[in-house]
Amino acid sequence: MSIAENLVHVRQAIAQAAAAAGRAASDVQLLAVSKTFGADAVIEAAQAGQHAFGENYLQEALDKMQAVHQLRADLPLSWHFIGPIQSNKTRPIAEHFDWVHSVDREKIAQRLSDQRPDGLPPLQVCLQVNVSGEDSKSGIAPDEVLALAKAVAALPRLRLRGLMAIPEPAASFDEQRPPFSKLRELQAQLAAQGLPTDTLSMGMSADMAAAIAEGATIVRVGTAIFGKRNYAN
Ligand SMILES: *Cc1c(COP(=O)(O)O)cnc(C)c1O
Repeated sequence: MSIAENLVHVRQAIAQAAAAAGRAASDVQLLAVSKTFGADAVIEAAQAGQHAFGENYLQEALDKMQAVHQLRADLPLSWHFIGPIQSNKTRPIAEHFDWVHSVDREKIAQRLSDQRPDGLPPLQVCLQVNVSGEDSKSGIAPDEVLALAKAVAALPRLRLRGLMAIPEPAASFDEQRPPFSKLRELQAQLAAQGLPTDTLSMGMSADMAAAIAEGATIVRVGTAIFGKRNYAN
C-alpha cells in the first residue's frame, strides 16, 4: 500500500481510538516517524496532508531536511527530534528542529536553550520519562520529573509542553495501558505543582490505541505509515 493509503488508515485508527475514549480526534496529533526513510517518502506523506515528522538520528535528519527543502521548499513542515541526545550535538538540534521530545537531563536543556537562535520561536520540549522501570531505556525516573520540569520551565528559549514515553512492548491493549496511565498521572502531578502542560507524546504503531485511551495528544507512528524499516539504509 502507498504512504497516502497508510496515512488514511492510521488517521482512521486514531479517530476510532479517540471516539472509543470519548475524545475528539482533533485532540490527537499524528507525528510521522520518518527515520530510515528518504526525502521522497517525506514529500509523499506531505502531499497527502501530513506535516509533522519525527526523526531519531541527527545527521540523517539534517541531510533529509536539506534534501526535502531543495526539492520542495514550499511544504510547511515541522520537525520533531525524538531520539537520544548527545550533549555535543545540541546545537544543530536547537537550530533545525521545532520540537524535542527526548530531553532527559538539565545539562541538555540548558544547552538547547543557550543555542536556540533568537530569530526562531522557543523550542517546544517534552521530557522523556522511563515509565517501564527498565535500566536500559533512556528517560528520567518518575521521581525526577518535577525537578527537571521546573528547570526546563525556567529556561528562556525553551517551552515545556509535556511528557514523552516509550514503554516496553506489551502484547495486549490492557497490558499496554498502565505505563501510559502512569505518564498521564505524572502530568497531572506537574499541573498540581503549578506546571501545566498540554502534551502527552505516547503511542507508536503497535500501541497507539492504548495510548489514546490514556490521553495521548501526540502519537509517534512510523511503521504503519512508511512500512518496515531497513536499518542497512
Ligand atoms: C521509531 C520510533 C517510533 C515509531 O515506531 P513505530 O513502531 O515504527 O511506529 C516512535 N517513537 C520513537 C521514539 C521511535 O524511536
